[in-house]
Amino acid sequence: MEFAFTAAEQAFATEVRRFLRDHLPDRFPHDGMDAGYGSGAHSRAFLRALAAEGWLSMTWPREFGGQERSLMHKLILFEELALAGAPFGPLAGCAETADAIIRYGSERLKREVLPRIARGEATFWQGFSEPNAGSDLLSLRTEGTRDGDDWVINGHKIWSSHAGISTYGLVLARTSPGARRSQGLSMFVVDNTLPGMDIRPIRSLTGEVYHYEVFLDRVRVPGDYLLGRENEGFVQLLKGLDTDRFWGRFYKAPALKRLLGELVEYANTTRQHEVPLARNAVIRRQLAGLATEIEALRLLFYRIGWMLERGLPTPYESALVKVLADETGQRLAAAGMDILGLWGPLREGSRWAKLEGRIQHLYQTGLGQTIAGGTSEILRTTVATRGLGLPREPGAGR
Ligand SMILES: Cc1cc2nc3c(=O)[nH]c(=O)nc-3n(C[C@H](O)[C@H](O)[C@H](O)COP(=O)(O)OP(=O)(O)OC[C@H]3O[C@@H](n4cnc5c(N)ncnc54)[C@H](O)[C@@H]3O)c2cc1C
Repeated sequence: MEFAFTAAEQAFATEVRRFLRDHLPDRFPHDGMDAGYGSGAHSRAFLRALAAEGWLSMTWPREFGGQERSLMHKLILFEELALAGAPFGPLAGCAETADAIIRYGSERLKREVLPRIARGEATFWQGFSEPNAGSDLLSLRTEGTRDGDDWVINGHKIWSSHAGISTYGLVLARTSPGARRSQGLSMFVVDNTLPGMDIRPIRSLTGEVYHYEVFLDRVRVPGDYLLGRENEGFVQLLKGLDTDRFWGRFYKAPALKRLLGELVEYANTTRQHEVPLARNAVIRRQLAGLATEIEALRLLFYRIGWMLERGLPTPYESALVKVLADETGQRLAAAGMDILGLWGPLREGSRWAKLEGRIQHLYQTGLGQTIAGGTSEILRTTVATRGLGLPREPGAGR
């Protein structure tokens, strides 16, 4: 395997770093959500600056305004942004949705939505989970019913990240109630401004809002906004979820590397009983252990990216890397709390907070990460069955 980037990819990384020097991430106004996912706050202005470089559509086919650049370019872009602490929160969701629209979307969806993504004007939330449908997603009850050329959607989604600051939702609904549970589901692109959309914030542990509850009351969606084939939404979702886990977490290795760098700096510059923390054997071991995990995580992500680029199947790899990414994040947060000691739990804005409260923030937001996008228990089952060929647990097959 060739481990180096090509000359063109290296040149692109340099171009992104230059862009970041000219567009300092912390100068952009943040709106709606702060660093919830460790990928920096969301900033519409920053997204538009990326769009102006043509980077939001650079991997798309030329017929849709893209430049047909390799997937590696997208990885490099995300890595550089995360290393710089840039505010690119919903970017992975935009990239994935664009790919799905190019692959499955109607002509109208391509014509109306793709240009908005390319200009940095459209972002997305995912409406899969419901109050009684999480790991067991097939229990979902939201319904889509045909009415003339339109679909009318009724239902209730929950934990929808970014919903209140996004433009469109990807809503999974039951469109053939009599069919088997895994059949008869369809995916819709739903404009947040449609009549009948009621999006309510859920305040999280940190006191901030990243998640929303969405009530859909007779929301009328144009027929062309069905994404893919009627009643085949679950198959599409299963294919999509694999890459969703990959794209949704790829930023983690560089984001954690950045935070680890801050902890190293803290240990080097902070004395306890006249001795720098960096001389403490326990702290050194913690930091070195994390550095090892983060480097392994990064290489694993790039390996899966390499497989995706070649169209190779990744039946369990995305599950495996998501578990590792989220649990490494939790380990870093716990080690950071140890190292910061009594200052650890203080929040950003507090007079004595260290590292602007970033460690406690990760500590709290990191708890939900091993639940979001499939819990670690469910994903370990995927690794066990699809990766290791172990039998499913009794009663698990539905
Ligand atoms: C931070 C965060 C962001 C999220 N963002 C979104 C979003 O944007 N869009 C969206 O649609 N949803 C989102 N979710 C919802 C998420 O997908 C669900 O919470 C998740 O799938 C788990 O479902 P649940 O909460 O109903 O828990 P349950 O499925 O009820 O699980 C409860 C516990 O039981 C365990 N469990 C359940 N079934 C099994 C089994 N068969 N084997 C072993 N253990 C099992 C689980 O691992 C878990 O520990 C988000 C959740 C969080 C926390």
